[in-house]
Amino acid sequence: MVPVTKPFLPPKEDYDLLLHGIWKRHWLTNMGPLASDLEMKLKEHLNVKHLLFVTNGTVALQLAIKALGLTGEIITTPFTYVATTSSIVWEGCEPVFVDIDKHSLNIDPTKIEAAITEKTTAIVATHVYGNPCDVEAIQKIADKHKLKVIYDAAHAFGVKVNGTSIFNYGDISTCSTHATKLYHTCEGGLVVTKNADTLKTLAYMRNFGHSGPESFQGIGINGKNSEFHAAMGLANLPCMDAIHAQRQKLSERYTLKLKNFKAVQPVWHKKSASNYAYYPIVFESEALLLKCIDVLKANEIFGRRYFYPSLATSLPYTKNVPLENTDNIAKRIFCLPLYYDLTIEEVDLICRLLLRTQNN
Ligand SMILES: *Cc1c(COP(=O)(O)O)cnc(C)c1O
Repeated sequence: MVPVTKPFLPPKEDYDLLLHGIWKRHWLTNMGPLASDLEMKLKEHLNVKHLLFVTNGTVALQLAIKALGLTGEIITTPFTYVATTSSIVWEGCEPVFVDIDKHSLNIDPTKIEAAITEKTTAIVATHVYGNPCDVEAIQKIADKHKLKVIYDAAHAFGVKVNGTSIFNYGDISTCSTHATKLYHTCEGGLVVTKNADTLKTLAYMRNFGHSGPESFQGIGINGKNSEFHAAMGLANLPCMDAIHAQRQKLSERYTLKLKNFKAVQPVWHKKSASNYAYYPIVFESEALLLKCIDVLKANEIFGRRYFYPSLATSLPYTKNVPLENTDNIAKRIFCLPLYYDLTIEEVDLICRLLLRTQNN
């Protein structure tokens, strides 16, 4: 069986070594030494100023929205995972969907201004598949209209743009370190900011609002993560170069073998390189996509229609709006299997099946 993704596991001895320390200390959570060490190492690895390791990528988004005090309407993309949208609604704000650019598959900055009203407080955009949004254009609009910017960078671990981490853009960037993501801690998330005051707010909010053992700064939730999760993160971090190299090799094989296949890839940001988190393709037609899904399934190969359907037409708690590019792309998008353990032979088989189906 070939699944769409398969979590990477580090050498077990490396994880065991970290567990020894946990058994010695009996310190299991609440910003323990491993969680602190992970935060320090991630800041270094990513070259970002402030970073907190939190429960998961969804809590990271909720903390970001709360820490910036957002209310009213938030402009966002419907072409993302549901957590981007649900976090906005969960925090009592209204998502206003703006269509995507049909090449980058990210929110189209030229369509943002038309969606701004006097109730708009922020833009929450996703770097889809790790492909950076047009961060300069978005910041320009945000500055002009005094809006905050949050990037859902769940897919964008390790991505750089203009020579700096993509996490350095916006007021806050969030990441997910869920088991299915490029870099994982089983469950987990990150909030990243350049602003020291925002960091302070995020830090007390992550810990029930505590400012000391017997005092409170404001409202908070439990957004902490455990030593066991931090240990997985610490053991995985040194493997990222090998993971990147393997995923690059597999992705390049797909691209080579699918040269004559009727599908296109999202157009990547000119000043950035892929982190190979996903291998998305946009099929020429939904009919061909559905045929290919069946053929792959018959061979026990599973990709994913990620993201389908458009969140602007499928959620029972938001207004339904048709959006030309999103609706059109969502029907034809498909992520092919991509993970460290995938073999070149499996990639070749997948490509053969796709080509055969197209030519039948
Ligand atoms: C995975 C993901 C999330 C949610 O992260 P969790 O860690 O699973 O809570 C949010 N946004 C996007 C774009 C994601 O892919």
